[in-house]
Amino acid sequence: MDKDLVDQVIDTALRVVASGAISANGHGNVSIRVPGAQEMYYTAAPSLREHPRSAVVRIGLDGTLIEGNLPPIQGAVVAMHTAMYADSADVGCVLHTHSPYATAYAVAGRPIGCWVEALAMFGLPNGVPVASYGPRGSEDAVANIRAAVIPGVPAVLLANHGVLVFHRSPELAILVGGVVEEAAMAGINAGSIGGPIEIPEALRSAALQRAMTFEGMGIQHA
Ligand SMILES: [Zn+2]
Repeated sequence: MDKDLVDQVIDTALRVVASGAISANGHGNVSIRVPGAQEMYYTAAPSLREHPRSAVVRIGLDGTLIEGNLPPIQGAVVAMHTAMYADSADVGCVLHTHSPYATAYAVAGRPIGCWVEALAMFGLPNGVPVASYGPRGSEDAVANIRAAVIPGVPAVLLANHGVLVFHRSPELAILVGGVVEEAAMAGINAGSIGGPIEIPEALRSAALQRAMTFEGMGIQHA
């Protein structure tokens, strides 16, 4: 195992927990692509809370376990990680959690609309789509996720399950995971006072343009 990559995976798990966009039991998994190889490092413990270094495993993008121990229950969701790397050369990190508010939308089978500006700024101008349910680890589950993913859009809700985020770096994936959870929470809270109102479509690209301008100016927008 490469020590630096194990460090990165553990650090990402810690930061997902610290972000608060996670369920009470910490269920979820994190993976990082191995640069220049058809492999990823993956969290094989059941919870991201206090994830032990010894439970990080190395897996080929064809699903083959290369190093470490992978319990079958954790192995069941490996394919949704490998699929994201296989489908987009840009993806460097995949996160999966049951963050409570986003999971509420997933359980309701409802997409999250673009009713907070951060969604438009971070690549989700049409909100977060929902992938239809398939039993975890099944070919259907992965096919449904692939069918729901919009090229260039870094997140999808998993019906009756949780949320999947995939981005160039762990930093961006954690950021988007937090934005999705915040948007879901705002949507549910707004539900009791008339419901969330989406940003007019024509103004969403303006939000993204402004985000890119900030990026170009070297300003952190996290
Ligand atoms: Zn899950």
